[in-house]
Amino acid sequence: MVKVRFAPSPTGFLHIGSARTALFNWLFARHEKGVFVFRVEDTDKERSKDEFLQEIISSLEWLGMSWDEGPYYQTKRIDVYRDYAKKLFREGKAYEAEGTLGGEKAIILAMPKGTITLDDLVHGPVSFDMNLQKDLVLMKSDGFPAYNFACVIDDFDMKVTHVIRGDDHISNTPKQLAVYQALAIDPPKFAHIPLILGTDRSRMSKRHGATSISDYRQMGFLPDALVNYISLLGWAPTGDREVMPIDEIIREFSLERVGKTGAVFDINKLIWMNGEYIRARKIEDLIPLVVPRIKESGAIRDDYDKGRLTEVVRLFHPRAKTITELADSVAPFFTDGVTYDEAAVASVLAKEGVKAKLEVVIAKFSSLKTFDPQTLETCIRDLASESGTKAADFIHPIRVAVTGCKVGASLFETIALIGKEKTIMRLKAGLAKALSKYDSGPI
Ligand code: GLU
Repeated sequence: MVKVRFAPSPTGFLHIGSARTALFNWLFARHEKGVFVFRVEDTDKERSKDEFLQEIISSLEWLGMSWDEGPYYQTKRIDVYRDYAKKLFREGKAYEAEGTLGGEKAIILAMPKGTITLDDLVHGPVSFDMNLQKDLVLMKSDGFPAYNFACVIDDFDMKVTHVIRGDDHISNTPKQLAVYQALAIDPPKFAHIPLILGTDRSRMSKRHGATSISDYRQMGFLPDALVNYISLLGWAPTGDREVMPIDEIIREFSLERVGKTGAVFDINKLIWMNGEYIRARKIEDLIPLVVPRIKESGAIRDDYDKGRLTEVVRLFHPRAKTITELADSVAPFFTDGVTYDEAAVASVLAKEGVKAKLEVVIAKFSSLKTFDPQTLETCIRDLASESGTKAADFIHPIRVAVTGCKVGASLFETIALIGKEKTIMRLKAGLAKALSKYDSGPI
């Protein structure tokens, strides 16, 4: 039976690259109806932190990657590693050395000579000249195992059949294969997956933007969209499908279709895909996601009008890209004031004739008995033809005055939802803003 593991070191938050490693292991396990093990490689005492582990666990859960076995902690298995190291020492395959800092004696494996060949499932055969390898520390003088040793002992003990991990570990593999040889046990199969690159094709790092899964969660991405996007970083299904439900990805996933070269992380593509997932969600399922963010902005409290919120979310649903952006679009419908985009004020409100137009609109809107999209549209179109101009000459300044920005959802639906009283208040505010800022200008 297939058994794979995700074995993070809790020395940082869950990075996109590590999440992709976890995902490929998880997909392979689910596709093969195998077992997915979660192992915590926490032997770096200085750098491992519980805070990081908690974040890794909550990110994995949020992404929907459940494990079948574990978590195992390497720090709870020190005796196991020591026993194996002692065995190699007794057999004369490893030797002891005095640690520089005193403490216990380190146990070191003499490297074999000649060549070791890794038959990688992604890269094919890769040979390593073992004469170039230094002898390998198994147990350090602080009594802790070295990564390359603990990893082998665990993979063997836990009966891992496939090690799927990033290309950055390929240089560790000959060392690990030497440990398998010394123990006279069969190594698992290895699949080293290509690194994730930024758009400039260098290894993805903070320089390229957010790297941790928590950041993407905070930025308003949906977990299923992120999983779908990450699944395509280094793997491709047959055909040119991109938006695929998780069951389909599981059904199609295979290591044969993992590429050998780096996979470029393209935030714009992720944003596009996230929009597709938002569109596929029902409005009622988006409400619980946007509400906490709108509350945070202070625009609503617990007693908000649910019906109205649903209407506003529905208005932005066709164009929303992230949950954050959706919440930002919805919030102004629940506040009195508007935050003006200064550039929009300058380019739209400070135009000749705008003052007169807005004044007419204010007068006209004040006299309206009904304030629905249809009435508003007719009203503006009539005003435009009466004054011999285009409706757009009214629509643009109204939008900036009422919403603060140049683009948004359908204007008539927007102002209908904002309501008559607030719309008129904002038209006056927009006008005042333009006048105060450009009092010597052409208004
Ligand atoms: N703890 C290692 C890491 O975080 C995992 C190495 C492995 O998968 O073998 O990179």
